[in-house]
Amino acid sequence: MRLIFLGPPGAGKGTQSELICKDFGIKQISTGDLLRYHRIEGTELGKKAQFYMDKGELVPDEIIIEMIRNELRKTEYLDGFLLDGFPRTIPQAEALDKLLSDSGLKLDAVLVLIVPMEELVARLTARRVCPKCGKVYHLISNPPKNDNICDIDGIELYQRTDDTEETVRNRLNVYEQQTAPLIGYYENQGLAYKVDGNGKIEDIYKKIKDIILKILKGKEETHSEK
Ligand code: AMP
Repeated sequence: MRLIFLGPPGAGKGTQSELICKDFGIKQISTGDLLRYHRIEGTELGKKAQFYMDKGELVPDEIIIEMIRNELRKTEYLDGFLLDGFPRTIPQAEALDKLLSDSGLKLDAVLVLIVPMEELVARLTARRVCPKCGKVYHLISNPPKNDNICDIDGIELYQRTDDTEETVRNRLNVYEQQTAPLIGYYENQGLAYKVDGNGKIEDIYKKIKDIILKILKGKEETHSEK
């Protein structure tokens, strides 16, 4: 199964991706996580990306497309993947279409999480992350059991450098201008499924799971008709 998770920063894509990947046994590819990994490792790519990330701007398409091309070559994605944070522009979406069609592959669905803008600023500025396992917490709606400490690793959580209010507002503007047009792009391909991203994590997940199960059922039926 090949899925894309679309939605503004802070919509809950990371949290929901974790649940989907666990339940359906697919691998998540988060371009944000890949870029943060490159930054920590101090690679050339990481150094180039840092400049854009800290301002809340998008890293140039050619850098991201090259990074995804390399990532998708890995055998662990042969059975499928869930793309989180990619594509973010029309040229990225077109490059992905080409990469997949060159390998005779197709996307199954694009899940679109819808959350009002005002809600996103509050969510993002209260977000905290475990530096070891990457688990994402929210100080109000999904806090760790002990103050600022990861439930799994027992170490102190951190705030992403791009989760400060000014950068968050810029990231949301960038989303509206450059990424939101992708909803129409995938609607035209009949692949977009909109999900209301407001409410409890488990209730949102239930809606997402129902969509994925329907898609899987549709695939089974198509196979058995052959
Ligand atoms: P995220 O963790 O998905 O919110 O990504 C954090 C930052 O990484 C973004 O604000 C961008 O600067 C950069 N980034 C992640 N994915 C992409 C992408 N597909 N295209 C361009 N920049 C990206």
